[in-house]
Amino acid sequence: MPIELLKYGLRRGHRPFRDIPPTPDLRKHYDVVIIGGGGHGLAAAYYLSNHHGVRNVAVLEKGYLAGGNTARNTTTVRSNYLTPPSIAFYREGVSLFEAMSEELGFNVMFSQRGQLTLAHSDAAMRSFRLRAEMGNHVGIRAELVDAKTVQELCPHVNMDLGGQHEVLGGLWHADGGTARHDAVAWGYAKRAAEKGVEIHQRTEVEGFGIANGRITEVRTNRGTIAAGQVLQAAGGMNGRIAEMAGIPLPIRCFPLQAMVTQPLKPFLDILLSSSNLHTYLVQSSRGEIVIGGGTDPYQLASTRSSLPQKESLATGALQLMPFLHNIKILRQWAGITDITPDFSPIMGASPLQNYWLDAGWGTWGFKATGVAGKRMAETIATGRVPDILAPFSLERFSRFELLNEMGATAAGH
Ligand SMILES: Cc1cc2nc3c(=O)[nH]c(=O)nc-3n(C[C@H](O)[C@H](O)[C@H](O)COP(=O)(O)OP(=O)(O)OC[C@H]3O[C@@H](n4cnc5c(N)ncnc54)[C@H](O)[C@@H]3O)c2cc1C
Repeated sequence: MPIELLKYGLRRGHRPFRDIPPTPDLRKHYDVVIIGGGGHGLAAAYYLSNHHGVRNVAVLEKGYLAGGNTARNTTTVRSNYLTPPSIAFYREGVSLFEAMSEELGFNVMFSQRGQLTLAHSDAAMRSFRLRAEMGNHVGIRAELVDAKTVQELCPHVNMDLGGQHEVLGGLWHADGGTARHDAVAWGYAKRAAEKGVEIHQRTEVEGFGIANGRITEVRTNRGTIAAGQVLQAAGGMNGRIAEMAGIPLPIRCFPLQAMVTQPLKPFLDILLSSSNLHTYLVQSSRGEIVIGGGTDPYQLASTRSSLPQKESLATGALQLMPFLHNIKILRQWAGITDITPDFSPIMGASPLQNYWLDAGWGTWGFKATGVAGKRMAETIATGRVPDILAPFSLERFSRFELLNEMGATAAGH
C-alpha cells in the first residue's frame, strides 16, 4: 500500500466528503466539450486539466455521474489480449491502475489478485499458449498452466464438470485484478473539478451544428454551446451520438448482464473465468460473488435484466462451483454495450476536424478507463494521435486492418 494512503487512513479529523461542485450554468464556449460523464470522459477531463493545463473543459452527462456502463461493469482489469497493439495498450492501462490510488489521492481499491481463464479443450489450450506467448513477447505476465496448477490456484473449481467440460488447464495472468468502479470515476471527477473542469449532470447532447468539416456548436437540453474540440465518450450511446455528427460507426448494441450473490466468507482470491461456459466469477470486497458472462444474443438498447440470462449465468457458476447451489442472488442488472466487428475499440480522429472518438468499448472498456482518458487527452491537447492509439483508428475498417480480439474478449471481458 502506498505510504501516503496509509498516512491518510490513519489521520484524524478528516473533513466531511464534499461532492463535486454543483452543476453551474453552461458557458457560451468551452475549449473542450466531453460528451459522457462515465469513467472515460472523466478520465480524459482529468488528464486534460491536470497533465496538459487545458481547463476550460465541460463534461456533459445526460444522467448522473458515471451511471452508465461504468456503474454496471464487473471491474475485470487485465491485459492478456491476443494482438500486440491491444496487449501494449491494455498493459499501459493496468500500470495506470497500479498507480491510480496514489495519483488521484483517492482509494480505488485496486486488487491485483490474478486472473485464470479455464481451458476445457485442446483447441483452447492451443489458443491460450499463443496468447501467453504473445503476452510475454509484449512484456506482460501470462502463462499456460496445467490442470494441477489450476487446482492449486483455485482449489474450489469442479475439475471434471460432470464429464462435459473437463478442465485441462488454463491461462494464468498474474497482472489481472479488479478495482472499485465508482471510486475510479469519482476520483477522476474530483481531481478534474478541482482544476476547474465543469461537470454538467442531467445535460443531454441532442445535436450538433456542423460547418466546413468542423463541429461549430453542441446542442443540449440546457442550451447550445460553442466548442473548440469535442470528444465523444458516450458508452452504449456512442453509435447514436456519432450518427448525430454524421459519422456512421461500425457499432452494434447488445445488452450485457451480470448479477451478485449474497455475501460469503472470502474463499475466491483470484478472478476465474471460463469462455466455454460463458461465465466468470469474482468475489467482491463485500464477499458477494459477482457473476458475469457473454452478451444477450440479440441487439437491443435496453438495460432490463432477463430470466434466461439469469439461468445461463447461474448454470455456468454452478458447473464451476456446485457448492454454490444454495446461495441467493441479490441483484441482477444490465448495461448497453457498443460492440465493434473486431471486438476492439475505436479511438482517435473522426472525419470531422475537431471531433474525436472514444467508442466501441463494448464489454471490455473499464480496464481502459485510465489509459483511454490519458491518451485521448494527449490527442486533443497536441492534435496528434499517439502511436499507441494509431492501430485503433476508425480507418482500420476501410483498410481491412482489423484487430480481432473476439476470443480474448469472450466471457472474461
Ligand atoms: C454488465 C457489464 C459488465 C462489464 N464488465 C467489464 C469488465 O469486467 N471489465 C471491463 O474492462 N469492462 C467491462 N464492461 C464494459 C465497461 O463497463 C465499459 O466498456 C466502460 O464502462 C465504458 O466506459 P465509458 O465511460 O466509455 O462509458 P459509460 O460509463 O457508459 O459512460 C458514458 C456516459 O455517456 C452518457 N451519455 C450517453 N448519451 C449521452 C448524451 N446524448 N448526452 C450526454 N451524455 C450521454 C451516459 O449516460 C453515460 O453515463 C462491462 C459492461 C457491462 C454492462
